[in-house]
Amino acid sequence: MNDLRKRFEAALMPNYGVPPLALARGEGCRVWDTDGNAYLDLIGGIAVSVLGHGHPALVQAVSAQVATLAHTSNLFLHEPEVLLAERLLGLLGGDGRVFFTNSGTEANEAAYKLVRRHTGPDRTYVVAADSSFHGRTMGALALTGKASIREPFGPFAADVRFVTYGSVDELRAAVTGDCAAVFLEPTQGEAGVIPAPEGYLAAARAICDETGAALVLDEIQSGVGRTGTWFQHQHEGVRPDVITLAKGLGGGLPIGACVGFGPYATAFGKGDHGSTFGGNPVACAAALAVLDTIEREGLLEHVTKVGDQLAAAVEAIDHPLLAGVRGRGLWRAIVLAEPESAAVEAAARDAGFLVNAVAPQAVRLAPPLIIAPDEVASFVTALPGILGAAS
Ligand SMILES: *Cc1c(COP(=O)(O)O)cnc(C)c1O
Repeated sequence: MNDLRKRFEAALMPNYGVPPLALARGEGCRVWDTDGNAYLDLIGGIAVSVLGHGHPALVQAVSAQVATLAHTSNLFLHEPEVLLAERLLGLLGGDGRVFFTNSGTEANEAAYKLVRRHTGPDRTYVVAADSSFHGRTMGALALTGKASIREPFGPFAADVRFVTYGSVDELRAAVTGDCAAVFLEPTQGEAGVIPAPEGYLAAARAICDETGAALVLDEIQSGVGRTGTWFQHQHEGVRPDVITLAKGLGGGLPIGACVGFGPYATAFGKGDHGSTFGGNPVACAAALAVLDTIEREGLLEHVTKVGDQLAAAVEAIDHPLLAGVRGRGLWRAIVLAEPESAAVEAAARDAGFLVNAVAPQAVRLAPPLIIAPDEVASFVTALPGILGAAS
């Protein structure tokens, strides 16, 4: 592993730093490093590996598709793409259309272009939230409220106005008839799994209706069963004009989607946007296998049940470093009393658990949706020792 880390450092750009582990393989919710040590994977490649590792349905779907037809470009249509679009529209309801991408940031770029195309130049600005994360390409980055990520790359061509996440008053003041769109995450993932206050999304919906701005919900991390419904906005019964998806959708294969409703379904005309790889047959086959498996295995109910068990068990632990737990379903932050998340992540790794120090006082858990109650229990049992080792 040390040799591989040295070669990584010499050959790859230093933007990620050198990760602490080199993973060799995975099975279910377990992964092994190149030295043969096993870990329980409680982060799932950042909310991506929803079926865990090596799930037979995913392996079968991807293997069969790559052997049949791996790529067409958008010069030709193919059935997996049409099936997946139909499937997503069925889960989302309403009068929508889909554009496929390869990643989350590209889904937000598509959404940004889509709202601009619909409103034209008259609506001059968009609104996004402080501490938000929408991606690393220049358009999505301009929407990203996390200053440490955005600011080194400004100025941006886009007029983006930031508001405090959760403040209805600030949102109402910021959104006028000149505003093209409001971009929001239903829960801010990269900020530390911070759910919107009750009623905030409904208020955003009402403000957008009053002013004619589009409500764009970035469900790239929250979507595809993560919170116990197919999409998080379904908990509140709020309908977006545009939704973006990625992360869990392909179960590990790269795919994203931008779905527009009503006038946003057909705002792109021929030639307005495109992607050579977007909607690739293999990625679409993977996504279809993910959606079918979530349904067939009853994973939405499972996520709710196991996620609640996890939160209750963590809350029952009495430890000076533990301040609480937030989030929903199998998307949680263990909140710390001190900014010691990096030490907790390292101590968890030493104990055989992969978690993520998403913010100084928040440790993120986003395990595969198939995780078993006894696997969750093994982590909760080890947690006091992990917190002790980190203190
Ligand atoms: C991860 C993420 C993105 C960016 O997705 P990439 O695939 O890394 O480009 C955008 N928005 C949210 C909410 C995310 O969690």
